[in-house]
Formats: sequence, structure tokens, C-alpha cells
Amino acid sequence: MIEMQDVWKTYTNGTHALQGVSVKIDRNEFVYVVGPSGAGKSTFMKLIYREEVPTKGQISVNGFNIGKLKQRKIPYVRRNIGVIFQDFRLLPRLTAYENVAFAMEVIEAPKKLIRKRVPEVLELVGLKEKMNREPAQLSGGEQQRVAIARAIVNNPSVIIADEPTGNLDPETSWEIMQLLDEINFRGTTIVMATHNKDIVNSMRKRVIAIENGNIVRDQVRGEYGYDF
Ligand code: ADP
Ligand code: ADP
Repeated sequence: MIEMQDVWKTYTNGTHALQGVSVKIDRNEFVYVVGPSGAGKSTFMKLIYREEVPTKGQISVNGFNIGKLKQRKIPYVRRNIGVIFQDFRLLPRLTAYENVAFAMEVIEAPKKLIRKRVPEVLELVGLKEKMNREPAQLSGGEQQRVAIARAIVNNPSVIIADEPTGNLDPETSWEIMQLLDEINFRGTTIVMATHNKDIVNSMRKRVIAIENGNIVRDQVRGEYGYDF
């Protein structure tokens, strides 16, 4: 469902962030992306959700060649991909409910469906009781749960998570991982960049290691493999 063929990404300042990456990620996989800072992990993820386009090579997501996508088709691909960040990126003046509803409003979902679906998803992430709070009135773990609710509300086939536990304490990180594991179990592909050695080594899944813009390791039930 995600396929890269000899993908290169050179930023306008001349940095070669990815240098000939080829990889296939199937439907329903859970993949950790590991490697040193500056290795190209975020670039790898940004190419999948079309925040960046490749300089050379092909990327297909659900059969769409997303590097060559016409501008008007971008929303169709984006709605099939939910994105989660280390710093949550919630809208600060909106409540948890409104943050999640916003993702449905953007794709012009019917109002009736929004009113039904948003509480369901907030219940799934365990935040139904706090849906009228703004981000500042929620803990870090709770804010990440809202971000996860927002990412899954439109039923994407893929979740891209860039260091989702990077700002959370170990216990909260485990709770977030349990939630992502459950979402994966229900049928969503997850690609997650992480520096969390304990999580990678405990929840054994496919590990793709990137160094200097190349995939240097791809293991089925892999390990973190670094000391940082
Ligand atoms: P990682 O996520 O593994 O830390 P990144 O994909 O963020 O790595 O970065 C890979 C390389 O590309 C680094 O050298 C970084 O400085 C560079 N880079 C990332 N984004 C940009 C950008 N927008 N413009 C120029 N260089 C960038
Ligand atoms: P301990 O083993 O001392 O209870 P852990 O840090 O291993 O502490 O676990 C903390 C929390 O993370 C617990 O709620 C546990 O259920 C959960 N957890 C631990 N391992 C996994 C795993 N492989 N998958 C999902 N959740 C896990």
C-alpha cells in the first residue's frame, strides 16, 4: 500500500535527505522508523503524507503516485492518512471536541455525521468526559489522545506518527503505544518514527533503520539497535 522506488530528496539548500530509498509497506503493518537525528526519518514520513515531494523516484500510497499528484487530488490522498506529531499540534483555542470535529469539517463531512462520530472517537481514546476542555486544560498524554482521535476520525488507512511519545513520560508513552497498537489491530497501517528504545525492544515489530538518507536495516521483528 506504501511503496517507494529509488526515492531521492534534496532540499533547496542542497542537503541530500534521502538517497535512493526503496521500500514496501503492506496494509496493516506496524513499522518503526529508527536512526540518528538528521538521518532522514522525518523526510521519509513527510514524503508519505505529501508534505514534501521527491526530487527523484516514485512513491505510491494506496495506488496513487503521490509525487505526481495533481493539486486538486491532494485532499483525497491526505484524508486517507492521519498524522501525529511529537508536539501534538492541536488548535489552542478549540476544545478537544472542536479539534477533532475540525478534521471532519475540512473534508466537508455532513454535520449530522460529525455530531455522531466525534464523541465516538473521543470515547475510543478515553477522553469523552473531557471533550469540552481546551488543550491547555489537558495533560500531555491527553493532548496526544486528542491528536490521535483527530488522526483517525476520517478512518484513514495509514497513520504516520513522528515521535509521538517524544514529549511524554514513560508510563504515558506506554498508554499511547497501547492505543496505537489497538488502532493497528483494528486495521490501520502505522508508520512511527521513534527514539524510544524500550518501546521498540518490547513491542517487537518491523524496524526500518535510516542512516545518512539510506535504509541500512529492515527487520521483521526488529530491535532498536542504538545506544541513544
Ligand atoms: P530526522 O527526522 O532523521 O532527524 P530529517 O528528515 O529531519 O531527519 O532531516 C534529514 C536531513 O535533511 C538533515 O540534514 C536536515 O538538516 C535536512 N533537512 C530537513 N528538512 C530540511 C529543509 N526543509 N530544508 C533543508 N534541509 C532540511
Ligand atoms: P511493568 O512491566 O513494570 O508493569 P511496563 O513499563 O512494561 O511496566 O508497562 C507499563 C504499561 O505499559 C503497563 O500498563 C503495560 O500493560 C503496558 N505495556 C507493557 N508492555 C506492553 C506491550 N508490549 N504492548 C502494549 N502495552 C504494554
